[in-house]
Amino acid sequence: MTEPYCNSYYAASANQTAAFPMLDGDIDVDVAIIGGGFTGIASALELSERGFRVAVLEANQIGWGATGRNGGQVTGSLSGDKAMEREFRKTLGAEASNYVWNLRWRGHDIIEDRVKKYGIQCDLKHGHMLTAYKPSHIPALKAMYHEACENGMEDQVELIEGADVKDYLESDLYPAGLLNNKNMHLHSLNLCLGEADAVRSLGGQIFCSSRVTEIVHGKRPIVKTQHGQVTADTVLLAGNAYHQLAQGSMKGVLFPASLGIMATEPLSEEVANKINPHDIAVYDCRMVLDYFRLTADKRLIFGGGTKYSGGGYNTTAVENELRPALERTFPRLKGVKIDYQWSGQAGIIINRIPHIGKIAPNVFFAEGYSGHGMATSHIVAEIMANTITGSLEEFDIFANVPHTKLPFGKWFGNAAISLGMWYYVQLEKLK
Ligand SMILES: Cc1cc2nc3c(=O)[nH]c(=O)nc-3n(C[C@H](O)[C@H](O)[C@H](O)COP(=O)(O)OP(=O)(O)OC[C@H]3O[C@@H](n4cnc5c(N)ncnc54)[C@H](O)[C@@H]3O)c2cc1C
Repeated sequence: MTEPYCNSYYAASANQTAAFPMLDGDIDVDVAIIGGGFTGIASALELSERGFRVAVLEANQIGWGATGRNGGQVTGSLSGDKAMEREFRKTLGAEASNYVWNLRWRGHDIIEDRVKKYGIQCDLKHGHMLTAYKPSHIPALKAMYHEACENGMEDQVELIEGADVKDYLESDLYPAGLLNNKNMHLHSLNLCLGEADAVRSLGGQIFCSSRVTEIVHGKRPIVKTQHGQVTADTVLLAGNAYHQLAQGSMKGVLFPASLGIMATEPLSEEVANKINPHDIAVYDCRMVLDYFRLTADKRLIFGGGTKYSGGGYNTTAVENELRPALERTFPRLKGVKIDYQWSGQAGIIINRIPHIGKIAPNVFFAEGYSGHGMATSHIVAEIMANTITGSLEEFDIFANVPHTKLPFGKWFGNAAISLGMWYYVQLEKLK
C-alpha cells in the first residue's frame, strides 16, 4: 500500500516538483537503490555525478520517512562519536580521533555545496546552540568549546553563559549554551526533493509508489516491485527504520523509535524576534532532549517526544506531550495554536554507530543514524558511492564495527532500549 505524506509542516510547504512515476516494467541499471530518503537520494546523486546509471525505488513518496519529518537541524553530532573513536581506533590507530572530528563536519560541506550547485530552495540558515539544561551540563559544553577551538573552529563557536543566553533565547531554562555557526537548519523535505530533481537532471531514474518486495541475489541482483523489476550490478538498501527486507541477516541491530514533533501557527515578526532573535536552531544536552527552530514563515518547530516502544503516536498525542515543554521553554507562547503535529521513525543502533555493511557481495545497506541523520546520511551516501565505485577503505572502517544483535526481534529490542533510556533519564535527574 502506498501512503501519502503525513500531515506535516514540511509536506504542506513542499516545493512543487514534476511527479515521480511508479515503476511499471523491467529496467536495467548500474545501481538500484531501495528507499527515497536522504540516504537513498544522496547516494543516487553521488553516483549520478560520477556517471553511473541509477534507479531509486521508493515505496511511498520522496522524503516520506524520517527525512521529510525531522527537526531540520544539521549539526556536528554523529550521535555515537565517542563509540566511533573507540571502535575506529582498531582500524585507524591514533588517526581515529582526527577522522571522527572531520567526519562531524563533512556532511555540512556536502549539503552546502549541493544547495549552491543545484540552486535548491530549502531555507538554509547557519546558527545553532547546544544548550545546558542545568549547571552540571556546563563543563561538557566548555570541553566541546575547547575541542572546537583546538581544531581551528574558534571563529565559528562561542560559549554563552548566564544572562547572555537571553540575548539569543527568551527563556529561563538554560544556564549556558554553545553557539556554533557552522551548524545549520533547513527545510529537510525540500532539500531531499531538490536532490532528487538533481538526480533526474543527471539522467537518474526515480520511482515512487514502488515498494520493493524482494531482492533476488545473483551475479546481477534483481529487485522486484508489484509492477516491475530492476536488474543491477549493485543494490543499495536504504530503507532505514521503515523497511522489512533482509530480516534474516539484518534483524536485531536497528530499532525504530517514534519521535513526535509539531509546528505552531506562524508567529508575528515581533514575537519571533523576541523568542529567537538570531534565528538559531537549538537542542539541549539531555538524553531525551527538546529541539526547536523557526521556519521561514516564522512557525516554531518543536520536537522532543520519543517512544521507544516501537508503537507510534496517535493524532493529538504529540501536542499533549510537547505543549508543556514548549510553554516551559517560551512562556510567551502560552496558548499558541499548533497547526501541525506528526511523528516519524528514527533508526536507533545500540552503540549509536551507523550500521553499514553488505548482505551479499553486490548488495549493500546503510542505516541507523540514531536521530542525527541529516549530515550523517550525506556522509554515509558519499562513503557508499565510494564503495560502489571501488574504493572500500571507509566502508571497511564502518563495516568492521561489531554491532550488538538483540534476540527476540524488535519488541524485545525496543523494550531494552526503553529501559536503558529510562535508566539514563533517572541518572540525569540525580546529577
Ligand atoms: C521526528 C524526527 C526528527 C529528527 N530530527 C533530526 C534533526 O533535527 N537532525 C538530524 O540530523 N536528524 C534528525 N532526525 C533523523 C533523520 O531524519 C534521519 O536520520 C534521516 O532522515 C534518515 O534518512 P534515511 O534516508 O536513512 O531514512 P528515511 O528518511 O526514513 O527513508 C527511508 C525510506 O525508505 C522507504 N522504504 C522502506 N522500505 C521500502 C521498500 N521495501 N521499498 C522501497 N522503499 C522503502 C521508506 O518509505 C522511506 O521513504 C530526525 C528523525 C525524526 C523521525
